[in-house]
Amino acid sequence: MSTATSFSLGRRSILKGRFDGSFALRPPGALGAGLFEEACSHCGDCALECPQAIIVADEEGFPKVDVSARGCTFCGTCAEVCEDGAILSAEGWDVRASVDDTCLSVQGVSCRTCEDHCDAGAIRFRLMTAGRAQPEVSLDDCTGCGACVAPCPSDAISLLRPAPQPSTSQPTASENQNV
Ligand code: SF4
Ligand code: SF4
Ligand code: SF4
Repeated sequence: MSTATSFSLGRRSILKGRFDGSFALRPPGALGAGLFEEACSHCGDCALECPQAIIVADEEGFPKVDVSARGCTFCGTCAEVCEDGAILSAEGWDVRASVDDTCLSVQGVSCRTCEDHCDAGAIRFRLMTAGRAQPEVSLDDCTGCGACVAPCPSDAISLLRPAPQPSTSQPTASENQNV
């Protein structure tokens, strides 16, 4: 698993908005930024073999993951076919789902689509006034698979990378950036 960013998450962590998304979403298991670009030869094998067809080339020809149509199953195929050692075996990602305010449920329209598509059970809804409900993503339970992104009717979900959390300071929403 990529270790470009490390972070600690409490068992009851709920998405609160501290993220550093200034990165390309490489396949799960990709080496960290810099090392990956040194190792990858642009062969395209991972993109060719990905059963989900979610690996595309970025502007420089390096593979990146695009979950706009479907999510990652963590099947490991991309790591298996990478002969350059740029992608190693991994069970997950250090990205998590984030819901913005365009969410229908937040605006009072009944929707639980993301919850229905989350096999990990990472999305819960906090009831609000006026029939609204705020989806909250458990950072502990979310695998970052991205399966909730495409089905969302309001395109409200992004995958983001939680930034390192200093032990003494609180999260700040200003650091959010989309993948
Ligand atoms: S783990 Fe599987 S589904 Fe995910 S990007 Fe790699 S090949 Fe595609
Ligand atoms: S699927 Fe999208 S619009 Fe529906 S509740 Fe989830 S985030 Fe909101
Ligand atoms: S990214 Fe995957 S695990 Fe996380 S909330 Fe969405 S569907 Fe659930």
